[in-house]
Amino acid sequence: MLPTLLSASLIAHNNCSLESSANTTPPLICIDPGHPSEVNSGKAIKNGTTEVHIDWVVGVKLRSLLVNRGFEVVMTKPREDHLVRNADRALIANKAGAALFVRLHCDAGRSRGFAVYYPDRQGTKGGVTGPSLEVRKQSKRAAESIGAAMSKHLGGALIDGGVRGDSKTLIGSRQGVLTGSIFSKVPVVTVEMVVLTNKTEAEFIKLEAGQWQMARALAEGVAAFVCLNPR
Ligand SMILES: [Zn+2]
Repeated sequence: MLPTLLSASLIAHNNCSLESSANTTPPLICIDPGHPSEVNSGKAIKNGTTEVHIDWVVGVKLRSLLVNRGFEVVMTKPREDHLVRNADRALIANKAGAALFVRLHCDAGRSRGFAVYYPDRQGTKGGVTGPSLEVRKQSKRAAESIGAAMSKHLGGALIDGGVRGDSKTLIGSRQGVLTGSIFSKVPVVTVEMVVLTNKTEAEFIKLEAGQWQMARALAEGVAAFVCLNPR
């Protein structure tokens, strides 16, 4: 079931901030710091850090920024080292009735910069096929909002890899889309924040300042999506 969202009267269109009201529930965002999962611990050391650590510290910063903006936030895990299966990550977002399910990852390999992924078709995993057409449409809008905010706020520091379909990922090429997307009943985006095997990008995201810059870009993109796409 998709969550109900803000009425137009609650939206300050000038800056897309949220105003609290006794009669309404603020929109809820589910933040999913990637790893450890059943397929990857995220603990391989790359340029002096690990993906599981970066995903977690940016996720915690994003949580604080979203709470300050008036959102409710649910995290998919209580601490950095907590293992959650990929399908279960989506089930947490579904159960919370999230307005958006934001999955944080870092890429590896020869590519550069950040990229935002959304389910561009259905996939099948463990006998489950998904996500629905409505979730795919909303996810694309969310990815575009977040991609635009990242481009604006990170463009000077990182290369803009743009918005891409899950089908372009290795997992997506095998099973249609990412596992977390298949099981998601709410809009879902997967952000590859940096390429951690790239020394320059690792140095950027290892710094507190870089982590905050990333979190601010993500928060702005999340807010833009939620405010501009009330259902
Ligand atoms: Zn990852």
